[in-house]
Amino acid sequence: MITVKEAQKKIISNKIFLNNETIKLNNSLGRVTCDNIKSKLNHPSNDLSSMDGYALRYNDAILIKTAPVTIVGESSAGNPFRRSITKQECIRISTGAVIPEGLDCILLKEKVKKNDGKIISTNQNIKKGDYIRKKGLNFKKDDLLIKKNNIITSRDIGIIASANHSNIKVYKKPVISVISTGNELRNPGKKISDYEIVSSNSLILEAIIISLGGKFINLGIAKDNKNSLKQKILKSKGSDILLTSGGISIGDHDLVQSTLLELGMKIIFWKIAMRPGKPLMFGKLNNMLVLCFPGNPVSTFVGSIIFLLPLINNLLNINTKLPITEAILAKDLKKNDEREEYMRAKLSYAKNNEIIADPYIKQDSSMSYYLAKSEGLIIRKPYDKALTAGKKVPIIPFSRISNTL
Ligand code: AMP
Ligand code: MG
Repeated sequence: MITVKEAQKKIISNKIFLNNETIKLNNSLGRVTCDNIKSKLNHPSNDLSSMDGYALRYNDAILIKTAPVTIVGESSAGNPFRRSITKQECIRISTGAVIPEGLDCILLKEKVKKNDGKIISTNQNIKKGDYIRKKGLNFKKDDLLIKKNNIITSRDIGIIASANHSNIKVYKKPVISVISTGNELRNPGKKISDYEIVSSNSLILEAIIISLGGKFINLGIAKDNKNSLKQKILKSKGSDILLTSGGISIGDHDLVQSTLLELGMKIIFWKIAMRPGKPLMFGKLNNMLVLCFPGNPVSTFVGSIIFLLPLINNLLNINTKLPITEAILAKDLKKNDEREEYMRAKLSYAKNNEIIADPYIKQDSSMSYYLAKSEGLIIRKPYDKALTAGKKVPIIPFSRISNTL
């Protein structure tokens, strides 16, 4: 058995390269940039007014009480004033409108007094350049806006669009094929016998893969025989990652590993000192990475968080570290054995905003009910001593990975 840390290191050091694709900016949320993105223009492209009012020369504005200024036209957003403006002239201007050459002062609409088409006074404390957004204030042409290997947020989409890009180059989503294995499995919604169970793992995995930015391919359920497994595995050709659930332990019907070996897979590791998920296997079949989870739904889920997340993020060149934080333990825990344990826990907040983690008493890896009800995992290091309620423990809050995890 290797440790979780060693296993994660091996996952990170086995990288395959994802191609690029150019996609529409409006489809780019959550994707990862594979190039630096620079601005195609100055933003704003001109000096603009930030308020509604009047644009004029500062030298005219300070003398306005003795020498009224004539309003000769208007510049509004999208409709600049195109004629030249001489001394003691001004124009009406609105927010976002271009300020004509030579004008360097904005008088606010609500602060001027007018008479007969002229501004005759203002109670504004006049300063040169106030309420003027200079050309390039936000960013300049060729400025680096978004770095390579960045997850696109809604805010990023905003500036990329403002910089006049409609398409964007991103890494292709890693293509992940999933095979569920087990003679007892049936797809949900059909009539089943009491010796059969509904396969839920491929559905959990589909949801996780989508949340983590992968492309999911469902290869269905394989029977516990090499023929059936081979047929399904051969269909995964061309994927970046093959995920399997079930059949990876040491039982007579656990044939996933031997079948993959016959097809040429090289094992990178098998068996990890962890609970749940001990028989988890990682390997490489040609250029495809293979991750095999034990069939219990909690093992599959925990394996996805601890290993699939770093694996996908590594291919996408983004942060592979799990969001581990501290919480206050709500119950006493017995001392731990040699396996690192991931315990499903309910999370809540103390008055001082500290997280309280309450582990479920039942931690059987088949119990997906408590998986669904949990909000995070308490991590217990191998040989961790007995802990009393109130002690600090490391946790992984699911919401820090994704709100829908
Ligand atoms: P295995 O790892 O194949 O020994 O399976 C361990 C347990 O997980 C067994 O009780 C299986 O019935 C169950 N199991 C395996 N695959 C799935 C699946 N796709 N969905 C739900 N439970 C499963
Ligand atoms: Mg099985």
